[in-house]
Amino acid sequence: MAAARLPLIIGDARVDTPEWFPVDDRATGAVMAEVAAGRPEDVDRAVAAARAALPAWDALGPLGRAAVMTKYAHVLDAHQGEIAELIHHEEGKPIGEAQAEVARACEVVHHFAGEAERLWTRQLPGANLSTGSIVRPAPIGVVAAITPWNFPVALVLWKLGPAMAAGCTMIVKPAIEAPLAARRLCDLATEAGVPDGVISCITGDGPILGEALCTHSGVDKVAFTGSRRVAEQIAAWASPRLKALSLELGGHGALLVLDDADLDVAAEVALMQGYANCGQACYAVNRVLVPRHLEADFLNRLRPGIAALNLGPMATDRGRDRHAMLMDDARAKGATVEGGALLDGNYVEPALVTNAGPGVLLVDEEPFTPVVVVMPYDDLDAAVAEVNRPDYGLVSYLCGGDSRRTLETAQRIECGTVAVNGWRVVVPYAPYAGWKGSGIGAELGQPGLDAFIRWQHLRVLA
Ligand code: NAD
Repeated sequence: MAAARLPLIIGDARVDTPEWFPVDDRATGAVMAEVAAGRPEDVDRAVAAARAALPAWDALGPLGRAAVMTKYAHVLDAHQGEIAELIHHEEGKPIGEAQAEVARACEVVHHFAGEAERLWTRQLPGANLSTGSIVRPAPIGVVAAITPWNFPVALVLWKLGPAMAAGCTMIVKPAIEAPLAARRLCDLATEAGVPDGVISCITGDGPILGEALCTHSGVDKVAFTGSRRVAEQIAAWASPRLKALSLELGGHGALLVLDDADLDVAAEVALMQGYANCGQACYAVNRVLVPRHLEADFLNRLRPGIAALNLGPMATDRGRDRHAMLMDDARAKGATVEGGALLDGNYVEPALVTNAGPGVLLVDEEPFTPVVVVMPYDDLDAAVAEVNRPDYGLVSYLCGGDSRRTLETAQRIECGTVAVNGWRVVVPYAPYAGWKGSGIGAELGQPGLDAFIRWQHLRVLA
């Protein structure tokens, strides 16, 4: 039976294209569906639909939008299982992880529906109530959301939730490697009664659509999550028109273990964040810094967890090939690599690396594969310097006993997020921000909403 063909979603239309991209099941290689290969003229049409929808969506006001968003969030909730299945197959994430991604992402839409209700205009009265300063949050306008394959639902809803609350309209451009779940989110907006044109979805080639969106005069903001390399290209395209930009990029996360830490908790953090989603996470633990006298004890607590892992396939062929290259590089430079073999199909064996330092690719570049490098330290200041060494600053982890020393050390870590004595890092109400080479701007929390607002001061003098 031929695979289903999924058209572009543009306003109230479902648009076929001359060419289509197959989307494979990562575990079996079977074609799950074909998605439309959008062209620059389709981007023009989607931008026109988004611009046309903008005035009425803004005029609905915060309470009106909150009501629509709440309905949308409930429709998403009702389809959580179906969306998680799509992620599980197109990206390869184990079903439990896919379900968790969808559940947490739906909470973000509920959260920002609530935030919309609290979007107040402020007035500073003048000599009388009809004069003074009115400061109102206006939507930035039409937003292009360009998202990666590793959290294909979360990273759309982190943008869509606050953008809708602020009164923006959005064109979602998911990664071609895993577009099905993201596209389904947009399809369900119609069922939820979201007005046509508020959410469109254009699938297709990243560079072609990226250039069309980022250079388009009708796009006011680009909200991008992905690699540093592509971010630089997007910023260059967006700069001649000085478009608003938010860039959420990669990381090189460290877990710093203090000498009074609970080593079982530390081992759990390394296991959960080093190997979840096959290590293909921007918030992954890539390096563990542990006091030298505790290294052997820590490794002994970590190894059984690694042996019991049941990883899904790698999400991309190039990620699987890169896994092999990184293991070879580490061995060639004298590191000790436990595991790390290529398995059948798209599967790889998780790895644990010791005797590695700067100069080994795994230690310097975002690995994006299931591996943790354990590095012993003798001096805490030197360990903090190593945590901060890479030109990344997204998420790091810290385990310690004495709370004052632990928190003081946490503040020395140059990352937008530092998780202390645990691994669950993302909540809808706190910002998720990349420092240094990990990005510009923030998602989630109040800053994540402000990112879709432009402030207007109405100075009423008479
Ligand atoms: P990527 O940069 O290759 O792709 C991201 C998006 O850009 C996709 O939609 C892709 O189609 C598009 N794209 C690719 N090449 C393009 C080009 N030349 N011009 C315009 N658009 C292009 O990233 P990826 O491999 O999909 O995702 C992995 C990266 O994303 C990692 O670096 C990871 O750390 C990062 N990431 C960051 C966060 C965060 O919140 N900071 C979250 C998840 C992933």
